[in-house]
Amino acid sequence: MQNELLDMDCKELRDKIASGQAKSITATQTVFDAIEKHEPALGAYISTFKEQALVRAGEIDNKIAAGESVGQLAGVPVAIKDNMCTTFGATTCASKILENFHSPYNAAVVEKLLTADAVIVGKTNMDEFAMGSSTENSGLKKTVNPWDTNRVPGGSSGGSAAAVAGRLCFAALGSDTGGSIRQPASFCGVVGLKPTYGRVSRFGLVASGSSLDQIGPVTQTVADSALMMNVIAGHDRSDSTSVDEAVAPVCDYLEKIDEPIEKLKIAIVPQFNAGADEQVQKSIADAIDVYKNLGADIIEINMPHLDYAIAAYYIIATAEASSNLARYDGVHYGHRTENPQDYIEVYSKSRAEAFGKEVKRRIMLGTYALSSGYYDAYYLKALKVRNLIRGDFTDAFKKCDCIIMPVSPTTAFKIGEKVDDPLTMYLSDIYTIAANLAGIPAISVPCGFDKDNLPIGLQILAPAFAEDKLLRIARMYEKETDQHEKKPPIVD
Ligand code: GLN
Repeated sequence: MQNELLDMDCKELRDKIASGQAKSITATQTVFDAIEKHEPALGAYISTFKEQALVRAGEIDNKIAAGESVGQLAGVPVAIKDNMCTTFGATTCASKILENFHSPYNAAVVEKLLTADAVIVGKTNMDEFAMGSSTENSGLKKTVNPWDTNRVPGGSSGGSAAAVAGRLCFAALGSDTGGSIRQPASFCGVVGLKPTYGRVSRFGLVASGSSLDQIGPVTQTVADSALMMNVIAGHDRSDSTSVDEAVAPVCDYLEKIDEPIEKLKIAIVPQFNAGADEQVQKSIADAIDVYKNLGADIIEINMPHLDYAIAAYYIIATAEASSNLARYDGVHYGHRTENPQDYIEVYSKSRAEAFGKEVKRRIMLGTYALSSGYYDAYYLKALKVRNLIRGDFTDAFKKCDCIIMPVSPTTAFKIGEKVDDPLTMYLSDIYTIAANLAGIPAISVPCGFDKDNLPIGLQILAPAFAEDKLLRIARMYEKETDQHEKKPPIVD
């Protein structure tokens, strides 16, 4: 029964627990057994809450036994990235500066998970303040890829992706500023969805790039992604950028997940896709053939400004991060240097001691881009480019339902391979960043393996607030493959 439980996806487990055929306490205990066995090798979690999770699982089982109604994630063990505030445990953002920070409130998504009767098993590792593509920038620990422990899990939500792929939870939340849900999902062979900007509340998500950040699910299947969206999507008065449901209503994303989109029209951007590795290109082409066989129309389009996405992103994201990270000053909260000579030293030494190299690099870049004299040349110019990229998408979606492209030009790279070469690392975000600049939803779905048996991800992008359609399109493909049933060697 125990291993059978780990073979289930979120939805199956939820149905079994809600109908009394399985117990949340058994599922939770099974997850903690798996954590005990594999976590030392994987390093997916920064913190875990065994006692608290088991008590909660027992309470949910009791509710079910008493015939009380339960939420959509009844008793399902899930994980969250450690940049979402919780009143239990620390919220570290994988940074030494917040290592001992305890939030006085829960993030909106955490409240929503709890209301849905999920069991939160732990908080996952990430690149410090979500800056990175490999989780190697974590200031606290190392996470490896469950498919090959010499390789990175992707980033910045690498812990969430490794935990789901390694079956150390049934689903997880990540955050995506420039690809941080989709790219690790792709590297670890799981499903990752970045919703439309404003669809999910950012209240209690520690800010990195405020106009780009969005929380979303990392799951084994597309249906699980829909289930998680049912729980976390919707308007929140505490987040002024969360979109009113009168403007963009949320729906039951799971209800019609198996209904294919009629007369589906897919666009591809051939000259842009040509930058990916051969094996990645081949898998994407095969996936497109699957859609063709399902009757989809494929059109080729040109999106002239996509080539500038990385340059614009690394100005905007660093500018916003430099401003957001000004609050870590050694005074209000977080790490404070010992024995400072004066208040200038409180600021400078606290920050120098506790921020990692990449965070410092981005604070400097962002401060420079925003400084008077350079603002117009860099930040303002980047905003204009962002507008042109948005325009490319608006034009594209007049002609198609969705756009398909790779998630990442390569599969998971070796640990240490790119960490000392930030520009190469930044270039690996080429396919994911545009969706954040445009604010549109995009999903990563497993679509093959390379010659080293490393997973490849297919990226599907849809118009703003079309998550429903996006999930159904992704499900059409998933139904035709057995990719999501394959497990990394570490699990067997
Ligand atoms: N890899 C990108 C970066 O380093 C994206 C990070 C993210 O989405 N949080 O900025």
